[in-house]
Amino acid sequence: MPLKTAQQYEESLRRLKLKVYLLGERIDNPVDHPIIRPSMNSVKMTYALAEDPLHEDLMTAKSHLTGKKVNRFCHLHQSADDLIRKVKMQRLLGQKTGACFQRCVGMDAINAVDSVTFEMDRKLGTDYHQRFAKFLLMMQEEDLTVDGAMTDPKGDRGLPPCRQEDPDMYVRVVEKQDKGIVVRGAKAHQTGALNSHWVLVMPTIAMGSDDADYAVSFACPADAEGISYIYGRQSCDTRKLEGGTMDVGNARFGGHEALMVFDNVFVPWEDVFMCGEHAFSGLLVERFAGYHRQSYGGCKVGVGDVLIGAAALAADFNGAAKASHIKDKLIEMTHLNETLYACGIACSAEGSRTESGTYLINLLLANVCKQNVTRFPYEIARLAEDIAGGIMVTMPSERDLSHPEIGDVIRKYLRGPAGISAEHRMRIMRLIENITLGTAAVGYRTESMHGAGSPQAQRIMISRQGNLDHKKQLAKELAGIA
Ligand code: SF4
Ligand code: FE
Repeated sequence: MPLKTAQQYEESLRRLKLKVYLLGERIDNPVDHPIIRPSMNSVKMTYALAEDPLHEDLMTAKSHLTGKKVNRFCHLHQSADDLIRKVKMQRLLGQKTGACFQRCVGMDAINAVDSVTFEMDRKLGTDYHQRFAKFLLMMQEEDLTVDGAMTDPKGDRGLPPCRQEDPDMYVRVVEKQDKGIVVRGAKAHQTGALNSHWVLVMPTIAMGSDDADYAVSFACPADAEGISYIYGRQSCDTRKLEGGTMDVGNARFGGHEALMVFDNVFVPWEDVFMCGEHAFSGLLVERFAGYHRQSYGGCKVGVGDVLIGAAALAADFNGAAKASHIKDKLIEMTHLNETLYACGIACSAEGSRTESGTYLINLLLANVCKQNVTRFPYEIARLAEDIAGGIMVTMPSERDLSHPEIGDVIRKYLRGPAGISAEHRMRIMRLIENITLGTAAVGYRTESMHGAGSPQAQRIMISRQGNLDHKKQLAKELAGIA
């Protein structure tokens, strides 16, 4: 059965020889590093829940390649129902981790690369799709976590890849050899990079013929010779080095991003899925981004559920739960969160079959979904902070609470209504702080803005997909304009 247990996943990561830098130091053991480990726990949950019969229908699927049960993160969507289950799975994982669980980028990448290589081969007579199918089979059989890598550093955004002052601003092919290609460049803010077994690289923009060397897609092991990782800092990250469980807000789970550097990495031809076919780079970007914009209608909603729950508890612990304006704020938060979910479900339900058989979301609705995600979590976070009160950012630390002299003072003055301890009140405040301002805010706030493409990228897609001419025609007919 091609399903790893959570423990087997952790052990498999230990066997990787990743070259990792964090806070100015080379890290030999990312798995146990206190800053990194919570993010590993989040990915581990994608394995653990797949083992649980209760969640089997969301977390696993039947492989179209082998008929075997595989983790849904390794699955190509075979129906609109598969697309809906994907979103539901992501909401569930957001609820269980309160963080970014990272594995979606690989799932979204394989679904995009599958249909694009199929269509590319049909048009150009290339043989990328069968190479990709071999890679996918290995991914399914070994239950791998694959990091979909799209975003290049981009340098001067006003210039195309080939006209950058430094030619490495976009990942490119520097040499073609008999047995494969050599690539150089970097991918920025790579979600879950250190918790992945393999990397699936894609181009980041539509390209012209001058940029053919940059139109490259390939897979390689995460610890391939020449790849290094520089871990991204997060707000309040060093609290994880203090050894406590309270001040971090969410002691068990987190997410991470890293700058992934390719320094003359060799990739055998069998793992190359695009090499110079610039006309297809835009399609690959559009589809990967579309899938990831759908994803946000699941994962952010799950984290939103946690935040709404935390805000409601904060109201209880402040003795304010009965106030009508608090009730109304919780209603508003729920309304916004469920609107995001509705978009994630809608773009899935309206999904359609591509030529390869893999299902694609409705791109207009997926972009509307993500556009809403660039706004609503901010409002949900604002309302959570409103309900929590200023104590969320002014209260003493866990160490003060356990101090022999001042601990009792804190317990006396920070307690809530009868039966609510200072510690419980502080814990819920810290969780809200974590999601709105701390390490999880990377995933819940700024990633809501820029992950899967910044707001303007969705507006471009909405304008392309919105079919304004059809709407004009509707108006003309009713207005009696011939
Ligand atoms: Fe998955 Fe959401 Fe994280 Fe993207 S941001 S990897 S969709 S959890
Ligand atoms: Fe993301």
